[in-house]
Amino acid sequence: MRLRNIPGSREVIADHPSCILEENPQKGNWADIFGNSNPIHIEVGMGKGRFIMSLARLNPDINYIGIEKYSSVLVRALEKLDEDPIDNIRFIRMDAEKINEMFAQDEISRIYLNFSDPWPKDRHAKRRLTSETFLKRYDNILKKEGHIEFKTDNQDLFDFSLEQVAPAGWNLAASTRDLHHDKVLNQGNVMTEYEEKFSSQGNPIFKMIINR
Ligand code: SAM
Repeated sequence: MRLRNIPGSREVIADHPSCILEENPQKGNWADIFGNSNPIHIEVGMGKGRFIMSLARLNPDINYIGIEKYSSVLVRALEKLDEDPIDNIRFIRMDAEKINEMFAQDEISRIYLNFSDPWPKDRHAKRRLTSETFLKRYDNILKKEGHIEFKTDNQDLFDFSLEQVAPAGWNLAASTRDLHHDKVLNQGNVMTEYEEKFSSQGNPIFKMIINR
């Protein structure tokens, strides 16, 4: 998702108390930032943040962090947060390539990847957020008992992602090629903005859960 540039969004983000910037890594400090030692769940590539803000409202005993690369997208989440504040959420503007600089080993309990950019050209495969390269990065920050949940409407990206699991040292715990008709995996499903858009066009939603 690339929105048009929104003038002033960088400044809004830099001044916002719920927002951390890539250039100010908080590795190992997250329990202090939230003021408690509740589990931390992150969404990488959160877009305008609807999914992670819904989860934060549903689960006040979990801390949530939404990561987004673009200021013009992230600022939309901050506008929603300011209208209806939530204590247990923070946002980071960063490229997830640097995720190991932002979190310490075992600091995270769950990772969500929703409708990640497909990067269809082979030469860009390492940029896909489910590539072996990224799975190895997540391995460092995710607790051993933690897992990753990935949803997409893109069959090629889903097939690619399944192929990455074993070489990166992960296990496939569950998967479906039609989430909204899967009685088990769809329980408690919280829709993302992209999920609502693509499923309303009749596209099936793919989901996999991986652990170690
Ligand atoms: N997760 C949201 C949803 O399902 O509605 C947004 C999906 S949108 C297609 C993908 C988002 O991931 C975009 O906002 C994009 O800027 C962000 N993104 C892509 N690559 C990223 C990266 N390397 N680091 C952080 N954010 C990234």
